[in-house]
Amino acid sequence: MSPPALPRERLRVAIQKSGRLGTPARDLLASCGLTWRESRDKLFCYGESLPVDLLLVRDDDIPGLIAEGVCDLGVVGRNVMVEHELERAAAGHEAGLREVRELGWGSCRLDIAIAEDEEWHGPEQLAGLRIATSYPRILGSWLAEHDVEARVVTLSGSVEIAPRLGQSDVVCDLVSSGGTLAANQLKPVATLLHSEAVVAGPAHPLDGARGEMAELLLRRMDGALRLKETRLLMLRAARDELTQVLTQLPDGHEPTILAVDGHDEVSVQMLCHAAVSWKRLEDLKRAGARHLMVLPVEGMLA
Ligand code: ATP
Ligand code: ZN
Repeated sequence: MSPPALPRERLRVAIQKSGRLGTPARDLLASCGLTWRESRDKLFCYGESLPVDLLLVRDDDIPGLIAEGVCDLGVVGRNVMVEHELERAAAGHEAGLREVRELGWGSCRLDIAIAEDEEWHGPEQLAGLRIATSYPRILGSWLAEHDVEARVVTLSGSVEIAPRLGQSDVVCDLVSSGGTLAANQLKPVATLLHSEAVVAGPAHPLDGARGEMAELLLRRMDGALRLKETRLLMLRAARDELTQVLTQLPDGHEPTILAVDGHDEVSVQMLCHAAVSWKRLEDLKRAGARHLMVLPVEGMLA
């Protein structure tokens, strides 16, 4: 796959082509004001609104692309990034990547899972067993930490069925709801890593035009992530009931209180950190608030 030759003042961001992180990553970048023109093979998106291009790849390739300087940033699971960094370290290379933002979605754990009907007494129980995983380096370092010698069986996928196929005794796999494990009569017993989607960047920060563009994109991303949860709460209240109403306001910024021309009423506006529940609105109404309104926030520049 060879993206069109471009002057490298343009920033290049790698995201998953499909899979769990592809769509949310694209949505996040779109909420930062990016628009693209897709190449015919749909592997490369040329940024139209900003000099920021996208490379659509398998998630496993993202850390290497950044470490080699082919891409400048990437959206990837922490699990994939950590495995890559341990692999580099084992090969005697210095760090290639740095986690520059946590994104708060794509959450999962890398867990050891054993047969549902077995008891768990601790890591020493794994001594001499075969453990199937797609994360041999993370597992290897966890085993070393616990001074346990086991056989690591590296599989690129379908780890959870390895015990049933006789390939391993236990597994070390990604878990979110636990449904896949349960469907395979396995239960999680120990967590090696808490993961979520992150923005990865090179170990050494970028400089020049690409560095500036990366900073701009990350700033917009921070704003977009904050905005996603932010709501504007608006209400009106009689002056003599205001104190009571203010005690019922949800978490958020300091409210703005404005006089309503010609009325003995005030209008209250407030940015809230999260969605406002019906219960909260009912409590506010009981305290004297009227004309309650909750609005999503599309853009914000402090
Ligand atoms: P690709 O085709 O790009 O190699 P993949 O099959 O390796 O895709 P996905 O299954 O799409 O990857 O998972 C991508 C990332 O989503 C994982 O690396 C992990 O960080 C995150 N994730 C969140 N929940 C889960 C889960 N229950 N199972 C697997 N991954 C999860
Ligand atoms: Zn993958």
